[in-house]
Amino acid sequence: MSLDPVTAFTSQQLAVRYASHGMTPRLARRLLASAVRFGIWPDQDTTISVRWLSGMRNRLHIPSLSVLERRKSAVDGFEKFLFAAPDGARFESVLIPLAHRQDDRKAVVCVSSQAGCALGCAFCATGRLGFSRHLEVWEIVAQVAQLRRESTLPVRGVVFMGMGEPLLNVDAVLQAAEIFSEPCGLAISAKAITLSTVGIVPAILRLARERQPYRLIVSLTSADPDKRRRVMPVDAQYPLDTLRDALAVYHAATGRRVTLAWTLIAGFNTSEEDARRLAAWVGELPVQLDLIDVNDATGRFVPPDDTERNAFRDALRRHLAAPVVRRYSGGKDIQAACGMLAAQAAAASAKAP
Ligand code: SF4
Repeated sequence: MSLDPVTAFTSQQLAVRYASHGMTPRLARRLLASAVRFGIWPDQDTTISVRWLSGMRNRLHIPSLSVLERRKSAVDGFEKFLFAAPDGARFESVLIPLAHRQDDRKAVVCVSSQAGCALGCAFCATGRLGFSRHLEVWEIVAQVAQLRRESTLPVRGVVFMGMGEPLLNVDAVLQAAEIFSEPCGLAISAKAITLSTVGIVPAILRLARERQPYRLIVSLTSADPDKRRRVMPVDAQYPLDTLRDALAVYHAATGRRVTLAWTLIAGFNTSEEDARRLAAWVGELPVQLDLIDVNDATGRFVPPDDTERNAFRDALRRHLAAPVVRRYSGGKDIQAACGMLAAQAAAASAKAP
């Protein structure tokens, strides 16, 4: 009989599923807390009998991922973990320290939702790998749980910006997010959990319908359909107009401002016309625009220099009535920045011809 992974369930689901085996809601919370926070079974005590524990061990297990490699940036302290699942699937997570505010020192974990990715964005190393498979709930949970145990700072946030498109594995992603935010799970505020997507319209409509509490970031990069399609093939399936309509529905349902991510590529999406088109596409939709330098290890795409970047910001100021934020994408020296995750050990890539 195959065993269920404890960390694939919320405490409420555990209590319902194993009610006939004596799993009360209180025992379920104890079990989940111990499994997610420490990776171990709870101790036997006056409320947990040896008999009950051994019965549970015959039905459930506490799985973990193998760490194949761990590298820390000497520049900014970002730390990348290369994991292997029991079937050999490889994927990466990044522990991001946010220690600049002395009174609020914390860390955020960037997680993968798929091994590889099918969407083939031109500027992304994961896209060049192709798709292997969706990650299971426990594999997503384990990335954060295991990094939390390694972190010297408290982990207070999760961003689904690692390998894969989270909204193509949306059932598992939402289930993992619920476990992250459970008080007896990792107790991470739902508002500090971010789903990042290239614009999977049916899943955005689902988030709206279900009024999911998580933050949404949509990678736009161009509001010109021809240009966007050249670097983000997903635009052929979910074109800009359809995406705009879905975001309007999302905003109406949740009342939340949508964050748009704009990967800055020199000579490609930084002109006055790019800013004008973006403003026309946004219209009345309340948004925030995050500017992120492209990180392309192949050298095909390069970020703009300061002059080009500042000229684009000025153009945005003239055309777009929305906050514009420049985002730091760290860990470049260890290939941990946005767009650089390729699930390769440094030793292996150094040996490659
Ligand atoms: S940017 Fe995201 S969706 Fe695009 S190829 Fe990379 S992992 Fe996939």
